[in-house]
Amino acid sequence: MKGKIAYRFLFNYILMFFLSIIITIVVFILTGFANDVISKNLMKNYYTAEQLMQDNYLDIPYLEVIEDGGGVQVINSDLQVVLSKGIDTINAKVLTETEWTEFLSNSKEIGTPYSYSISYNEKGNYWLIVTFPTSIRIDVAIAHNELYVSRDTEVVWGVIVAVIMLYLLLLALVTVIYARITSISFVKPLKLLYQSAKQLEAGDYSARVEVKTKGEIGELGEVFNLMAKKIEDEIALRVKSEANRKQLILDISHDLKNPLSSILGYAEQLQNPIALPEEKRREYIKIIYENGIRLNGLINDLFEFSKLESGEYRMALEQTDLCEFIRTELAVLLPILEASEFSYDFIIPEKQMVVSIDKKQLDRVIFNLIHNAVRYNPKGTNIRIEVVQKENMVEIKIKDNGIGISREDAKHIFNAFYRVDSSRNSEKGGTGLGLAIAAKIINAHGGTIELFTAIGEGCEFVLTLPFIEKI
Ligand code: ADP
Repeated sequence: MKGKIAYRFLFNYILMFFLSIIITIVVFILTGFANDVISKNLMKNYYTAEQLMQDNYLDIPYLEVIEDGGGVQVINSDLQVVLSKGIDTINAKVLTETEWTEFLSNSKEIGTPYSYSISYNEKGNYWLIVTFPTSIRIDVAIAHNELYVSRDTEVVWGVIVAVIMLYLLLLALVTVIYARITSISFVKPLKLLYQSAKQLEAGDYSARVEVKTKGEIGELGEVFNLMAKKIEDEIALRVKSEANRKQLILDISHDLKNPLSSILGYAEQLQNPIALPEEKRREYIKIIYENGIRLNGLINDLFEFSKLESGEYRMALEQTDLCEFIRTELAVLLPILEASEFSYDFIIPEKQMVVSIDKKQLDRVIFNLIHNAVRYNPKGTNIRIEVVQKENMVEIKIKDNGIGISREDAKHIFNAFYRVDSSRNSEKGGTGLGLAIAAKIINAHGGTIELFTAIGEGCEFVLTLPFIEKI
């Protein structure tokens, strides 16, 4: 790319330079031609002093001259103005010799706003002056006497050629400078873009270009930056999801390994030909069974989680009265709360709040949240379940006054396999997938899930679901 644009500009401007010289010459010739045509058609050419001349000045046909906007003056040998009709630039009755000479020389000067045709009648002994106002006149004239070679000719030609050369030189210089300046204004931002594109190509996705130029090049810079940001985000996302995927596989294998090796270990002992005491045998079978249940729960959760994560899962949405739905859920969960000696408050409005939900999935979420409260908190904990109608959504609040979760843990609580205290939780049979599944389900409903908590202050899960209609 180097230099190519600069050369292109230089070439274009040199071409423009020659074209402008040609155009100047053509315009010059055309102006001369137009001047010729105009001057031939001017009023003053229709009424020259010679044409109007009469021996008796009283016979001069001046009426047409006046009608066409001109003027006629007759001056006798005593320099008295004996006849004046139409426009009069003399403005005197008698002229002195000096005034008359001045008038005659001024009448031929370039730039006078009148054109004069002056003639002398020998018989009548008078001067006839025909005056017309000049419309617009451009006088470009080169005078040269071919009959005599002036000694000045060489000098004059020298000066003319020098002026033309200087003019061409200046024009050429300006052309080159201008070509350079314009090419720089294009080349500089393009070079920056090129460098940033190279950086991107080399894998530096933070590459951005600072294009200060407005217009198309500026827009190109903006589009480049947007594109670079998109690529950077995509790559970061890919790296993050790859890391997540690796972590997930690690977590899954870890979680599967423990119960499985426990099952294998105890099963092996049971196979031992040396008979085990009945009590031990029962204990081992119980351990195998419990680990089997744990594995089954884990695999079910994993299956559910990956189904939701794949994005292929379609929610079976139904328009449902949320208050009625929660009441039914609570009726089922009430025995669990009572068995765990939990106190409870339900604040469910006695009206319809229609939302579009997948009942099976939302049931899973509610069950998980209430079951967690029961699982992780001591007897006597209070749980409060509330449904609140907001402007364009419905809120479900599930709040316990139990042990709570630290703010740091709360940040990650909706991530798969995240558990607050893994030893305690595996003991309680948790997989760390429950809240991750709950979050995916709520998000798939177009809603949100948040946790407000602190150690010793209990947990409050706030779910929102988009509101369909108020009845
Ligand atoms: P798990 O299968 O381990 O219960 P979850 O995703 O459902 O997985 O929960 C993640 C962790 O959050 C749990 O391991 C538990 O430590 C903590 N937790 C969830 N709900 C509560 C609660 N109501 N009170 C205290 N801790 C909770």
